[in-house]
Amino acid sequence: MIGSEHYRGPSWWPISVLIDGALTRGMRHIAVWWSALTVLAIGTAVLSLALEWSGVPVRAGALTYDVTVYPPLFITILLAVWLGPGWGAIPAFLAAVFLARYSGLSWATSGLFALGGPVQVLVLWGAMVTLNVHPDLPKAADIARFLLAGLVALSASSLAVFVWNSAHHLDLATGQRFWRGWMIGGFLQIGLIVVPVLRWLGRPTRLWFDRQFHNPPRHDLDYTHSVQMVVAVAFMMVALVAHGVALVVRDIPRATLTLEGQPLLPRLSEIGLFLALLLITVLATTSVFASALAQLSERERGVSLRDGLTGCYNRRAFYDMFPREADRSRRLSRGISVIGLDVDEFKAINDQHGHETGDEVLRHVTRRIQVASREEDLIFRWGGEEFVLLLPHTNPENAGMVAERVRSQISAEPLIISGTHSPISLTVSLGVAGTREYPVQPDALILRADAACYLAKQRGRNQVVHDPEGEVSAGDAPSDPSLTPGPGEHDAI
Ligand code: GH3
Ligand code: MG
Ligand code: MG
Repeated sequence: MIGSEHYRGPSWWPISVLIDGALTRGMRHIAVWWSALTVLAIGTAVLSLALEWSGVPVRAGALTYDVTVYPPLFITILLAVWLGPGWGAIPAFLAAVFLARYSGLSWATSGLFALGGPVQVLVLWGAMVTLNVHPDLPKAADIARFLLAGLVALSASSLAVFVWNSAHHLDLATGQRFWRGWMIGGFLQIGLIVVPVLRWLGRPTRLWFDRQFHNPPRHDLDYTHSVQMVVAVAFMMVALVAHGVALVVRDIPRATLTLEGQPLLPRLSEIGLFLALLLITVLATTSVFASALAQLSERERGVSLRDGLTGCYNRRAFYDMFPREADRSRRLSRGISVIGLDVDEFKAINDQHGHETGDEVLRHVTRRIQVASREEDLIFRWGGEEFVLLLPHTNPENAGMVAERVRSQISAEPLIISGTHSPISLTVSLGVAGTREYPVQPDALILRADAACYLAKQRGRNQVVHDPEGEVSAGDAPSDPSLTPGPGEHDAI
């Protein structure tokens, strides 16, 4: 529908999605799987500490590295890639909170330490979108960019390691070992576990998750989300740094002096302030550029896919969106339908009231189509006074109902347009075509809807006609009498 994205769906955040769709079977699957994986993330986080997976020695030549093995890392990254960032960020946070609590830290410090989890997931996800990484990593370039995104995310989340080290009063050498272990271990887990899983199991798993939703979650980064995410990440990182610095300073005796014999603490807070300002500046600058870019590409996409007069999608958008909608309808085992709509005697309106009034009438027609159609229906201005509605996961009979609602909404009351003397009565003719058989060619459906619309004109306008092929294929489906529009409104041919 106008004004919203074509690939709509529940938001990034699990809670609202689960509440919205709580009753469907697919949503129950999602809820069960997500909860199970969240529990698994928490359990393995605690286990990783209990079994000391944070110091697994790995030999590289003459050197030995302690590598951290932290299963929530790959569990939550996979959740974020397949379902959306919020779905990964929440378990990442919970796992780290329980880990920190188990290690004996206070609730407050645990909560701050745990911000490293969502920071990592959100940064990784944001970097994937910005770098245009395909979630199934089909090409070598996708893998390379994904590893880069992983590295950025690990660095951001490794701020939490400093909080951990200070909170546990670790000496510098041990602390550095932990930090190195986190970076190397994290990178190895991303490279050796996440990459192969995404590459070989990514597509079927993603499709399975998508199939559970009536409207699958959206994965593209729009302007509002990008701003929200940058603000959230900035806030969490600043909180982590501030808490880390406070913990470090707390460990230093008040009387400590620098080499020049000056008190050390004021110097340190100066450095801390400088670092915090630097961090904020870098984040602010990056976020301004990132959101400006997101807004720009969004606007460009919007302009190139929309019709200037009515704000509807244009013909190009139809061919752009059709394959995805058809694919989704097929996966949901439902039909897909289109409605062709042509304003009756529009030339007369132009002749009588002028072209400008004609334009205004087209805008009114658009608004009435919007009111009468459902939220998932997509409206396209095909040209002149002709519109097309694309009805995803909708069988032809149900499409007939929508068409009838549109027809009666438009003809219900004459239009009152400022600058014209009399109200303008308006009717439209509509042709409906749909199919349950896939694959389906967009042009084939359009042609059939157009032919049906032509028939509606011939039969006296102001009516809905089903295309004959649709009637035939509709015959093998169980018919629901409540879905059939009233007699006389559309004729079986
Ligand atoms: P019918 O469809 O019922 O057979 O009659 P009609 O008068 O609507 O038929 P036709 O398709 O021939 O006329 C369409 C008219 O729409 C012709 C053209 O001048 C007008 N038109 C096309 N695009 C626009 C537009 O953007 N704005 C305005 N005001 N008029 C337009
Ligand atoms: Mg026409
Ligand atoms: Mg017309």
